[in-house]
Amino acid sequence: MWESFPTGPLKPMLQGVIGPRLAALGGMRPSPPLILIVEDHAVTRRFLADNLAADGYEPLEAQSAGDGRRLMSSRAPELAIIDLGLPDRDGLELLREVRDDDEVAGRLDPRLPILILSGRATELDRIRGFERGCDDYLVKPFSYAELRGRVRALLRRARTTPGSGRLRIGSLELDPLAREVRIDGEQVALSKKEFALLRALAVQPTRVFTREELLRGVWGYQSLCATRTLDSHASRLRKKLNVGGNAFVVNVWGIGYRLIDGSVTE
Ligand code: CA
Repeated sequence: MWESFPTGPLKPMLQGVIGPRLAALGGMRPSPPLILIVEDHAVTRRFLADNLAADGYEPLEAQSAGDGRRLMSSRAPELAIIDLGLPDRDGLELLREVRDDDEVAGRLDPRLPILILSGRATELDRIRGFERGCDDYLVKPFSYAELRGRVRALLRRARTTPGSGRLRIGSLELDPLAREVRIDGEQVALSKKEFALLRALAVQPTRVFTREELLRGVWGYQSLCATRTLDSHASRLRKKLNVGGNAFVVNVWGIGYRLIDGSVTE
């Protein structure tokens, strides 16, 4: 039962329990970060869920890759901890599905921070994990204190990476985690693709993105020739965002699009 107890020192673990709870009482953490645990070993899963909950996170539990995938698309966790030996398919397969997703068909976030937690301990196993796109790799048996440190580091990095945090451009507000867009505080309903296109443009609002860049980033490699699809989505997005005379999604003839003209910023 090595998996049921942390091997790290107890004192830092208790300190970690107390800190976030005090923060929560002070109103600093209104909605705890959702962390998905994809792990078929019940004792390990429960152990992780209990400790992450005690540390102020909201754990989501999945026993298989399929369950994990469903929770990723329905609950949009901020981070996933994935075991590799899962009953329905290998955790590496799930990792690839996430990284290859276009955010629409599979409704997954390809930027989701993923930590692999596995008994596969060789250098080659770890290299394989990173090649498939994991952000971190921790070998079992593990220290919970170390796992928590890695989780914190991953969340911190994700929140400071362009495209993952809340963005405000003039009267437009975009919340990638909640998948919400507001203009002057009023929510605007967008399709998944429209949202993905807006998110791509909003990372650098005055930069002109070429059609090829946007098609690759938003639709994936397979639809490189479908420029009319891009143009029709861009046109719909522009109309939806055109509230109160706002001019978002600027067509730069012959090249592509940018979110705003330099002169439109407030
Ligand atoms: Ca397993």
